[in-house]
Amino acid sequence: MNKRIYLCLAHMSGQEQKYIQEAFDTNWVVPLGPNVNAFEEELEHFVGQDKKVVALSAGTAAMHLALIGCGVKAGDEVLVQSFTFCASANPVTYLGATPVFIDSEAETWNMDPTLLERAIIDRIKKTGKKPKAIVPVYLYGMPARIDEILSIANKYEIPVIEDAAEGLGSRFDGQVCGTFGRYGVLSFNGNKMITTSGGGALICPDSESKQRIMFYATQARESYPYYQHEKIGYNYRMSNICAGIGRGQMTILEKHIAHHRHIHYLYKEMLADIEGISLQENPSSRSDSNYWLSTILLDPDLRIKGEEHAYETIRTDCEPNRNVEATRMGLDTAGIESRPLWKPMHKQPIYRNSPCYLNGVSEALFKRGLCLPSGPCVSDEDVAYIVSQIKALLP
Ligand SMILES: *Cc1c(COP(=O)(O)O)cnc(C)c1O
Repeated sequence: MNKRIYLCLAHMSGQEQKYIQEAFDTNWVVPLGPNVNAFEEELEHFVGQDKKVVALSAGTAAMHLALIGCGVKAGDEVLVQSFTFCASANPVTYLGATPVFIDSEAETWNMDPTLLERAIIDRIKKTGKKPKAIVPVYLYGMPARIDEILSIANKYEIPVIEDAAEGLGSRFDGQVCGTFGRYGVLSFNGNKMITTSGGGALICPDSESKQRIMFYATQARESYPYYQHEKIGYNYRMSNICAGIGRGQMTILEKHIAHHRHIHYLYKEMLADIEGISLQENPSSRSDSNYWLSTILLDPDLRIKGEEHAYETIRTDCEPNRNVEATRMGLDTAGIESRPLWKPMHKQPIYRNSPCYLNGVSEALFKRGLCLPSGPCVSDEDVAYIVSQIKALLP
């Protein structure tokens, strides 16, 4: 074995250097400039729906500014999908607000609309005020039940911030994920669908809100000939160099999405005859996942070689089943990176005091699931090798 197969490594188009060179040649080596503007226009064209896009230094920054855009302040509550990466929830605490975690439904693994409504009613009853925003996530690219979530959000007049960091290019009823709510968060970290090395963007409803987000992203400078500050701002704008990488990446965005889907269908074909292992798939023709990461579930009764050595050194009170850990270790030895699903936020020590509305779905998935290599650097041969190594771990 001479190479290691990773979950999702960045892959360059070859065009990136041209845009970076342009930035150097024209001395736009700053957090604004022609690449930033052009990257935003290209993203606006891609997402459609007459949305406006602000390019930022990270997806986490985009989430932070979206919450500010929804008026979230200290003491407020925000309803956040529990089954997610911490960056969906942490910016709520940056503002001194409290995330209230909502469990998932079993089909899409995303925010359960029934629990969402129950939580809204209960929070109003317990606190006397409405939560300030709702944050559903497109986990591993899978579209959430955004139509139902939106109709509940509209009923109670609470804005929705879609965390589409993993869902760039996924669609629900043909519409790009991230364009349904008031704001949509995108990430261009090194492991996402496309990369700017690090970076993110916020999809905004109109030019006015784009201007407002831009204001907060650039230290809240008021329009005076001197620096006048009437609000607390942030230094969150994307650099013109990173945006150059983004422009190069936009030329292969569709190709990347197609590749992730292709890898998913290869796994589906090759894993079909293995009993006890299932692959997460679009639950209906309304959902069109970008399959950012292909994910499998292991039946708790499935025996895997080396299970007796799982968790010899490290334990918490909520961890994946031994057969999942044994699969991860076995693949690791074979030069293959895999990773358990996101550990739900309501099981994270840091959020143990946050209110949560649960049905057991995300915790059960966390105990059974594993993410497999899915990125643009994963070849057909790699998938065949990965599946053969999974089979080799079966008794
Ligand atoms: C990656 C990610 C983010 C944050 O994006 P960064 O660009 O890494 O700050 C937010 N939410 C989810 C679900 C993510 O996977």
